[in-house]
Amino acid sequence: MAAERVINFGAGPSALPISVLEEATQGLLNFQGTGMGIAEISHRSKEFQAFLSNLESNIRTQLDVPPTHRILFTQGGGSGQFSAVVLNMLARYRLLHPERTAEETVMDYVVTGSWSKKAAEEARRLGGGRVNVVVDSRAHSKDGKAFDNIPPHDAFRFSEDPAFIYYCENETVDGVEFSHEAGSPASFPFDILKRDTLVPLVADYSSSFMCRPIPRLADHAIIYAGAQKNIGPAGLTILIVRQDCIVDVDAAAKLGAAPVPITMSYKTLADAGSLYHTPSVLPIYIAGLVLDRMQKHGGMKHYEETNRRKALKVYDVLKEGEVAGVFRSKVQEGARSWMNVVFEVVGADAEKEFLDGAEKRGMKGLKGHRSVGGIRVSLYNAITEQEVDKFVEYAREFITERGA
Ligand code: PLP
Repeated sequence: MAAERVINFGAGPSALPISVLEEATQGLLNFQGTGMGIAEISHRSKEFQAFLSNLESNIRTQLDVPPTHRILFTQGGGSGQFSAVVLNMLARYRLLHPERTAEETVMDYVVTGSWSKKAAEEARRLGGGRVNVVVDSRAHSKDGKAFDNIPPHDAFRFSEDPAFIYYCENETVDGVEFSHEAGSPASFPFDILKRDTLVPLVADYSSSFMCRPIPRLADHAIIYAGAQKNIGPAGLTILIVRQDCIVDVDAAAKLGAAPVPITMSYKTLADAGSLYHTPSVLPIYIAGLVLDRMQKHGGMKHYEETNRRKALKVYDVLKEGEVAGVFRSKVQEGARSWMNVVFEVVGADAEKEFLDGAEKRGMKGLKGHRSVGGIRVSLYNAITEQEVDKFVEYAREFITERGA
């Protein structure tokens, strides 16, 4: 079966480890000897609840999540959280400042790519507060239009007392990511948090969750991610929420905050142990198997080292291609994503030729997002170093054939 599989460099849903898929097929037939498949067994059964609790502690251990934060599981993906974050954080702010009007309530959005832009649009659409764009990285790009950089820290204009500060750690479409290197000008300006550590900092980690440790995790109020890039199939959303951000949204509504749909309230999820309604059992199961496997392989340290090497290999060959006039990187140095490498192939029809050649060699999912075009190589956890080597070998051949 494995021999027929291609190398899937797609941006999500994306590749999963073969060993996990094979184990999951067994679980579909008979989950942990219960005689029922995972998609058939009750989510209230002791077997499933134990599985869920193991998944939670696996995330807690591997990411070193402190006891100040809850780990919650829900549905609705990253887009669902674009709305849920706003509703829960505005409810919290209303409870803290019942006298403030919507005009006096500010939500700070750091816009560094297509997804954070979309999140800010949803906040505007929901109302209940003003959106302050802390920075829009397009203003710092080479052509004034592209999301191709992380702006310098002195360009960030935070509000005095925002209801929350929002950013997207890895912009999947644009291939832009905050650097984790200490002292890098492209790192997130965490030092602003020193002013008031309780201003909730919210991060969308959808496409970089569990690919390496999360810097300053404890300083975040909310970290969320859809499972479908690094750890499982679509349908599962993971939230890491600081306790003070789990608020009584109904009490806030009585003070004038917008009502929060019950399944979007973090308090509902927390009080019910993420089982208020039927959870996405199959994605939870597969994510659990992936996390067990990750733990066995050495957890975040192992993945950080491997993912660093994978990204370096691809960026190195990209540089060779640039020197030869065959490739053109779309992202400025320092802000380049480890998970999604985006570039252009120079010349008429060259991109199609590159994609066709890759497909002939069993590599798929390399076409850039429809909104920006070009090539995108997604290097999520399930992509092995050998698979990256295969891509690099092909890219090098392509450079030799087409180079000046
Ligand atoms: N945020 C980021 C960084 C993403 O990459 C995506 C999807 O690819 C989303 C949010 C939206 O997630 P979903 O499709 O799960 O709603």
